[in-house]
Amino acid sequence: MYLPQEIIRKKRDGEVLTNEEIQFFIQGVADDSVSEGQIAAFAMAIFFNEMTMPERIALTCAMRDSGMVIDWSHMNFGGPIVDKHSTGGVGDVTSLMLGPMVAACGGFVPMISGRGLGHTGGTLDKLESIPGYNITPSNDGFGSVTKEAGVAIIGQTGDLAPADKRVYATRDITATVDNISLITASILSKKLAAGLESLVMDVKVGSGAFMPTYEASEELARSIVAVANGAGTKTTAILTDMNQVLASSAGNAVEVREAVQFLTGEYRNPRLFEVTMALCAEMLVLAKLATDSDDARSKLQAVLDNGKAAECFVKMVSGLGGPADFVENYDNYLGKAEIIKPVYAEQAGVVSAMDTRAIGMAVVGMGGGRRVATDKIDYVVGFDQFIRLGEVADETKPLAMIHARTEAQWQEAAQALKAAIKVGGDYQPTPDVYRQIRAEDV
Ligand code: URA
Repeated sequence: MYLPQEIIRKKRDGEVLTNEEIQFFIQGVADDSVSEGQIAAFAMAIFFNEMTMPERIALTCAMRDSGMVIDWSHMNFGGPIVDKHSTGGVGDVTSLMLGPMVAACGGFVPMISGRGLGHTGGTLDKLESIPGYNITPSNDGFGSVTKEAGVAIIGQTGDLAPADKRVYATRDITATVDNISLITASILSKKLAAGLESLVMDVKVGSGAFMPTYEASEELARSIVAVANGAGTKTTAILTDMNQVLASSAGNAVEVREAVQFLTGEYRNPRLFEVTMALCAEMLVLAKLATDSDDARSKLQAVLDNGKAAECFVKMVSGLGGPADFVENYDNYLGKAEIIKPVYAEQAGVVSAMDTRAIGMAVVGMGGGRRVATDKIDYVVGFDQFIRLGEVADETKPLAMIHARTEAQWQEAAQALKAAIKVGGDYQPTPDVYRQIRAEDV
């Protein structure tokens, strides 16, 4: 017999909790026998004392098992079940191409995605800019679209990892979000409840990343890889750059437009291509759909070239209620802002740095994200043709095109971009992909 206050005391005093103690506490979170005050004290004790890897594995598994854990075996997909998750970025539209690309190579990607959080964009918000696209199908609908299209990207259902929902809500109001043990368990409990066989984690690094330094991003990546593999899901983390907007666009409809153009080959931003390929290639390798990264890349290039990846995207969109001719006629379906015009730098020079977090907040400021959970999203606002680090901004090359509803909104966004993009000064190139952390590296 355990007492929540005794478990909290033990962690407060820096001791290591047993599997059973962690399970007991999380069971109490799920059935409401543990109070919000006790969750807050537990989170703060972990914040100051961290958890060992075995404790993190126990916490992740207990939160994963606090609700439904999807079992796909009855669906007989006939291929490996694989997914990707990102710590969140700006202009990070990779999921929309990655899911179909991996599906076209024989993987099955039942992806449960989130909404925008803080300055980061959300895959669900982007997909909802497609008329008719239903992010909350039934469990059967989720399974059948995944089987038919090889990929379905939908929203979180209430039954997955409900203990995390309660713990996260308490962390949010008690200054205990930014702790690696807690972040690891929170992210993985939800992902692993989706019944995956393997997972690739995209851990962002840089001015738009969730973690403040490269070292902190790497520490999170190591923790995720150790814990997910320890919990039985083959997982690799890839550290990728978020020192600038990843795609050429940032917003909702503008990013969906870019995703379609990527899939059809109409336009591919090279950074977005590199990061997407790195993530997809590792997914194929982990799922044994490719022998190594080179083999994976040639298979991925083939499904882009022969249109199979675009076909999987079409099947997913139409299977979830969107238009069957979306890829051909995307411009008819994605709305357009009233004012679309370029913003130029005050003076010419090389773009040497971007405050990517501020750029994400500028999208939120225009209504492309939420300040509070109940806000409605304006899908058409945002930026495209975004300049890249190392390029020269001058009177012919704008910082970006701003898609705004009103002149006042355009002006505000223009000021925000000019303040967030440093023109002139020393430019130090950063890699698109820093490194990979596999199970054997931790
Ligand atoms: N995202 C999550 O889902 N949980 C965290 O703790 C942090 C980011």
